[in-house]
Amino acid sequence: MIIFGTKGYIYQLAILTLVCGHCGNPSAHTLRKRVTKFTLFFVPLFPFSTKHFTQCTFCGAEQQISSEQAQQLQVQSAGGGQGVQGGQPHGQAQQGQHPYQR
Ligand SMILES: [Zn+2]
Repeated sequence: MIIFGTKGYIYQLAILTLVCGHCGNPSAHTLRKRVTKFTLFFVPLFPFSTKHFTQCTFCGAEQQISSEQAQQLQVQSAGGGQGVQGGQPHGQAQQGQHPYQR
């Protein structure tokens, strides 16, 4: 006898300030990833479905987004205005104004 099923996991990826499409408030949204894994004898083997959601913390509305959008939002939240760029040698040469120019 073979016992198989699915198991869902939720990962919180980021918290972002977005304008909610539901209530219209610029409020904090959580960015979550929901992964459904195939299990065999209750052991999760491999994920077969990954979905991304944002949820408004103001009204609780959930919105499904594409993984591309989720990636963009994560980049936004991680690098938000801090000028995080690879290859910066400690940034002590010029202080303040323009940490990098292109
Ligand atoms: Zn809302």
